[in-house]
Amino acid sequence: MATLSTPLISLPRHPNPSSPTTVNNDLRSSSHTAVIPQIEQCTNIGQLKQVHAQMLRTGLFFDPYSTSKLISACALSSFSSIDYARQMFDQIPQPNLYTWNTLIRAYASSADPVESILVFLDMLYGCSECPNKYTYPFVIKAASELRALHTGGAIHGMAIKSSLGSDIYILNSLVHFYGTCGDLGLARRVFGKTPKKDVVSWNSIITVFAQGNCPEEALELFKEMEAENVEPNDVTMVGVLSACGQKVDLEFGRWVCLYIARNRITENLTLNNAVLDMYVKCGSVEEAKILFDRMPEKDIVSWTTMLDGYAQSRNYDKAWRIFDAMPSQDIAAWNVLISSYEQSGKPKEALAVFNELQKSKSPKPDGVTLVSTLAACSQLGAIELGGQIHVYMKKQGIKMNSHLTTSLIDMYAKCGDLDKALEVFNSVERRDVFVWSAMISGFAMHGRGRDALDIFSKMLEAKVNPNAVTFTNLLCACSHAGLVDKGKMFFYQMEPVYSVVPGVKHYACMVNILGRSGNLEEAVELIEKMKTPPTASVWGALLAACGLHGSFELAEKACSHMLELDPRNHGHYVLLSNIYAKTGKWEEVSGLRKLVRDLGIKKERGCSSIEANGSVHEFLVGDNFHPLCKEIYSKLDEIAGRLKLVGYVPNKSHLLHFWEEEDMKDHALILHSEKLAIAFGLISLSPSQPIQVVKNLCVCGDCHTVAKLISKLYGRVILLRDRYRFHHFRDGHCSCNDYW
Ligand code: ZN
Ligand code: ZN
Repeated sequence: MATLSTPLISLPRHPNPSSPTTVNNDLRSSSHTAVIPQIEQCTNIGQLKQVHAQMLRTGLFFDPYSTSKLISACALSSFSSIDYARQMFDQIPQPNLYTWNTLIRAYASSADPVESILVFLDMLYGCSECPNKYTYPFVIKAASELRALHTGGAIHGMAIKSSLGSDIYILNSLVHFYGTCGDLGLARRVFGKTPKKDVVSWNSIITVFAQGNCPEEALELFKEMEAENVEPNDVTMVGVLSACGQKVDLEFGRWVCLYIARNRITENLTLNNAVLDMYVKCGSVEEAKILFDRMPEKDIVSWTTMLDGYAQSRNYDKAWRIFDAMPSQDIAAWNVLISSYEQSGKPKEALAVFNELQKSKSPKPDGVTLVSTLAACSQLGAIELGGQIHVYMKKQGIKMNSHLTTSLIDMYAKCGDLDKALEVFNSVERRDVFVWSAMISGFAMHGRGRDALDIFSKMLEAKVNPNAVTFTNLLCACSHAGLVDKGKMFFYQMEPVYSVVPGVKHYACMVNILGRSGNLEEAVELIEKMKTPPTASVWGALLAACGLHGSFELAEKACSHMLELDPRNHGHYVLLSNIYAKTGKWEEVSGLRKLVRDLGIKKERGCSSIEANGSVHEFLVGDNFHPLCKEIYSKLDEIAGRLKLVGYVPNKSHLLHFWEEEDMKDHALILHSEKLAIAFGLISLSPSQPIQVVKNLCVCGDCHTVAKLISKLYGRVILLRDRYRFHHFRDGHCSCNDYW
């Protein structure tokens, strides 16, 4: 049997007039009545090829009607082969309009929609008839697939010129086209001009708005549709449900489910999946599960939606149960688990799932997997693993896009290797605003303000417009490097020069810059000038500055605002307690401690992680769970001894006299988690390796001093990443110049 790749018999474009197979009119009419049922009965491509061969023998292949049917069966049936259809098409001397339309239609839904448009252009010159109402909807569909706004717009113009501008099929496809290209306004205009709107017209416009992140408008349109007495169908309801999910409007979603039942709208897999998705997005996993269990048919989308529901509600036991029960796990299912763990602050679990995925050999990680996994590496400071993923991407020839580039830069920067980050940055040709911003952020967190500013001016030279993220990173850079004037300049240029309206984050950065440099009054003035009410983060920046410059009254004011806005955030109490402690107000400290205990506020525990020999080790304050615990503590004793010799005294004023410290007063050192991690690093890493520690909270003054001393006494480079920035300790100094 012929296969798809079998070359066709080469034929002249025109039949030989003297050949006995020349078709005369009688033969044509008698034979095509016989061949049409034959074509219709074909159930696979092999049978069609036999009919094709037979038609070539009898000369019927040159009968436009029969051939059009043959090509249509070949291009559009369930066993279609568009390549074979195209080869036949190229052999017909003069394809009729029907055949041109068939090919345009088939290509529009193929993997290669651009062919549809190319055939359409050929048709304009090669077909004696003009494109008609069966041509335009499909070539417009191809333009939608390609998001080719200009091409589609030109085709729209042609349709109007050929007096087809009010054809409902064409208008419906134009609504979909403009919506897909993101021009909701034009979609709405075309819809408005549609004279007799049918259910497809309404479905198109509702779907366009639902998918264009305008759920309110989509639901409004649905109500209009009802008012116009157009009966909705299952496709309408899929659009409406998607809008409910986006609005997180469970009540309306439930009403829609009742509406579906009341109006006897045919349930099918797609509609059930839409209901499932609505429940999950609205946070009702229970209702989703009830539907899921009674669904007669489930596909990979149903399973993945259910998995996503459990993962989003952090119910990992049930998520894993669904995952294990899935008939097959595609990469989307793996991605749900990895990204959910990563985003809920469980990077270790995320990496464990990634390891499982690699062991299972199939499916292969895709871009989404790698972005989530790199983010997990960043959180942990796991540079070895992050580097391995980079190598993997190169080996597998994974195409870099802006997301992956940004993730790689961010991973290297957060894991302390700025040179590598810069290498990735320099290796890409096309840099969008996110890639540039990631590099600025990298320099910012390492306190290299000048370099960050440099990158920013290069970005402007490259004619890339900065966005809100760029400015947050830029202001952070100024703040970490103490570049007060530059920070002020950028802040006041944001709106007039770059049309980026300063948001809360920018104000918080600016308060930080002003406050830290001692301009407390100016910082307060700035807060008073804010157009939106200041958030806890803005007051927090002021409070931190007060702590630094010892402005006690202002600190209390800032703190009362913070506690009002966010009363259950333990961090605020720690900050205030520090200020009390600094000024020796011990009674206030213990009053605050009692208040926190009474309110039952849970503290965020300090946790430091360090990567050694390919695995990540985590430490909590004063913990003794690590297998090398004994060695670590004797190392700490040794450190304490050596520090004492150089005159070090634990800095009690930096202590957070608030939480756990009193439990370990007996030890010569305050046993914050970063000290344990550094001691472990001294034991496990070779002297040439830098000791890289990631801490979830801010580093305290005592740990900062100790790290500086260790870097000198032991001749080691220590990189400590805290919540906001990096500290590079080398030879007794820190890159932050004690300004953090
Ligand atoms: Zn500390
Ligand atoms: Zn530092």
